[in-house]
Amino acid sequence: MSSESSAAPAASGVSASGDTIFGRILRGEIPCDAVHSDELCLAFRDVAPQAPVHVLVIPREPIAQLSEATAEHQALLGHLLLVAAQVARQEGLNSWRTVINSGAEAGQTVFHLHVHVIGGRPLAWPPG
Ligand code: AMP
Repeated sequence: MSSESSAAPAASGVSASGDTIFGRILRGEIPCDAVHSDELCLAFRDVAPQAPVHVLVIPREPIAQLSEATAEHQALLGHLLLVAAQVARQEGLNSWRTVINSGAEAGQTVFHLHVHVIGGRPLAWPPG
């Protein structure tokens, strides 16, 4: 089982304690604009939105990144995607993009697994 401190490299979303800003949000230590909460995950608006709708869906379990997920996380990963779709519908989106950056070179800055839900404007492909 991963922990927040085990695999978190020195990136902007990681504090000196090895904890992440998303861990602090989950513990209620810093505020967020939540749009969904259940026993397995929390969804909240991105603080620096890249589109009119930009929501992050994060598991309560602190998996650092997708590459650390194992078979035991299968149901949890499915749940995150279903919640992402639910949030997109809730936000009135018919089309949207889900993104999971895994690793610093892929653009991951916060080492607590999260699904971006981005929509509300035309989205180009391929991404940068
Ligand atoms: P990634 O680059 O895939 O790791 O995405 C991390 C995302 O977290 C970025 O889009 C940031 O804007 C977002 N973010 C960082 N801190 C916060 C915060 N306190 N509340 C909401 N979103 C945040």
